[in-house]
Amino acid sequence: MSPTYDVVVIGLGGMGSAAAHHLSSRGARVLGLEKFGPVHQRGSSHGGSRITRQSYFEDPAYVPLLLRAYELYEDVERATGRDIATLCGGVMIGRPDSLTVSGSLRSATQWDLPHDMLDAAEIRRRFPTLAPQDDEVGLFERKAGLVRPENMVAAHLQLATRQGADLHFDEPMTHWEPYRDGVRVHTAEDTYTAGQLVICPGAWAPRLLTDLGVPFTIERQVMYWFRPRGGVRPFLPENHPIYIWEDADNVQVYGFPAIDGPELGAKVAFFRKGQVCTPETIDRTVHEDEIRAMADHMARCVPDLPGAFLKAATCMYSNTPDEHFVIARHPAHPESVTVACGFSGHGFKFVPVVGEILADLALTGTTPHPIGLFDPHRLAAAPA
Ligand SMILES: Cc1cc2nc3c(=O)[nH]c(=O)nc-3n(C[C@H](O)[C@H](O)[C@H](O)COP(=O)(O)OP(=O)(O)OC[C@H]3O[C@@H](n4cnc5c(N)ncnc54)[C@H](O)[C@@H]3O)c2cc1C
Repeated sequence: MSPTYDVVVIGLGGMGSAAAHHLSSRGARVLGLEKFGPVHQRGSSHGGSRITRQSYFEDPAYVPLLLRAYELYEDVERATGRDIATLCGGVMIGRPDSLTVSGSLRSATQWDLPHDMLDAAEIRRRFPTLAPQDDEVGLFERKAGLVRPENMVAAHLQLATRQGADLHFDEPMTHWEPYRDGVRVHTAEDTYTAGQLVICPGAWAPRLLTDLGVPFTIERQVMYWFRPRGGVRPFLPENHPIYIWEDADNVQVYGFPAIDGPELGAKVAFFRKGQVCTPETIDRTVHEDEIRAMADHMARCVPDLPGAFLKAATCMYSNTPDEHFVIARHPAHPESVTVACGFSGHGFKFVPVVGEILADLALTGTTPHPIGLFDPHRLAAAPA
C-alpha cells in the first residue's frame, strides 16, 4: 500500500523547502520530493547571496509581504542558529525618473518606510566606492541587505525534518493525477497519495505546469565575483551597502559587499538581460567576453571593484510576462493543487513568507496575505 500524506511538496528549492517547513510546523504529514540533492546548484537558489529590501520598486503591493518575510528571517535564524540575513543597508541608484529610484520612492512613501534620498555628492561622500554620474540620485534604505540562499534552504529543510516531514532527494516526480479527493503522485521509485499537492518547480515550471496557461520564459543569468583593487576593507558589509544601479539605458546592475572575506571578493550581476534557455540547454560556461563586459560596466560605477576576476556561476530566472509572481490555487485543480512559480528573478527575499502562504493555501484554501497580484488568471492567454 502506498504511503499516504496530507500534502506532497514538489521541489525542495527556495519555495518548496519553506512550504515543507510551514506545513509540517502546523502538524501536516508532509512528503517533499526533490529532483536533485539538498541545497544544490542547478536551479535558482544558490550563489551565496540574494538582495533583500523593503522599498520595493517593482510594486508597493509587495511591501506587506516583505515586512512579514523580515520577521520570519529572524524566526529561522533563532530556530536553527544559521546566518540568514545581513542588513548592511542598500542604495537604489539611477536618474530620478528611473524605475529603480522612482519605484523605490513610491513604495517607501506609500508604506512610510524609513529612507534617505541622496544626491550624487552625498552618495560619493557616504559610500566612497560608488561613483555616480552628477544627474544620478539614490534612495538609501538602512533595512536593505542580503539573505543567504543556501543557509535559508538548509534551515527550512532542517526544520521540516525536525517536525517530521519525509524529504526524499534524487527522487523527481514523473507525473501526478487527481485521485479520490486528492492526488496521486508518481516517481520512478514509488507512488504516493495525498490530499493536497504543492508544486514549487522553479525553472522546471514550463514542464510541470503546462496546464497553468502561463507563458514562462526561463533565462540564463550569470553572477560574477571580483577582488577589489586596493583590498576588500571598503567593501566589507560594515562599510558597504548592497546596491541596485540603473543606467541611462535602463540597464540594471546589482552588487553586494564582500561577505565571505578576501578570497571570495564581492559579487555583482546584471538584473535581466540574460539568454533564454531551459534547464537542459543552459550554457553553464561563463565566457571571456561576458566577464569583460561586466568588468567594463563596473569600472564606470564602482571603479575599484573589478580588480581581479575570481569566479562566475550561472543561475536561472523563471519569468512571467509582467515579472510578477504566480502564487495561487491551480485554476484547473482548485480543490487539491497549489502552485508557486514565475518568481522572475526577484523571489528569494520572499521565501519564508511564500512558505507561509503555501501552507495557508494548501491547508485552508485561502490566505490572509495579500496575493491578488499573483493570480495566474491575469496572464491567461486572451481568447482568439
Ligand atoms: C542569478 C540570480 C540572482 C538572483 N538574485 C535575487 C536577489 O538578489 N533577490 C531575490 O529576492 N531574488 C533573487 N533571485 C531570484 C530567486 O533566487 C528565485 O526567485 C528563487 O530562488 C526561486 O526559488 P524556487 O523555489 O522557485 O526555485 P528553485 O530553488 O530552483 O527550486 C525549484 C526546485 O524544484 C526541483 N524540481 C524541478 N522539477 C522537479 C520534479 N519533477 N520533481 C521534484 N523536484 C523538481 C528543482 O530541482 C529545484 O530544486 C535571483 C536568481 C538568480 C538566478
